Amino acid sequence: MAEAACKGQTEHFFAPHGEQAEARELREAIARSMCVTCPVLLACREYARRHREQGYWGAENDDQRLEARRRPARHRRASDPAIAAQG
Ligand code: SF4
Repeated sequence: MAEAACKGQTEHFFAPHGEQAEARELREAIARSMCVTCPVLLACREYARRHREQGYWGAENDDQRLEARRRPARHRRASDPAIAAQG
């Protein structure tokens, strides 16, 4: 938590009630811009997947997290540009 790039800015990571699709896209783009520079991205993502969290965690929204949980593990890293960008 101490190393999280989103520290103090969690309003970008959780949808307000009644959020429309366009607002969601903008909010998640802001969240993603923080996640891809975050030193704890992978740990955050795995935690959210494991605990079935809601919201934007580790550069994934709810739909992406659900889809990732359904994919075999060997396909997850290779197809993820956020992980590739971190090297
Ligand atoms: S990966 Fe994203 S959601 Fe997770 S701690 Fe970092 S900035 Fe926050």
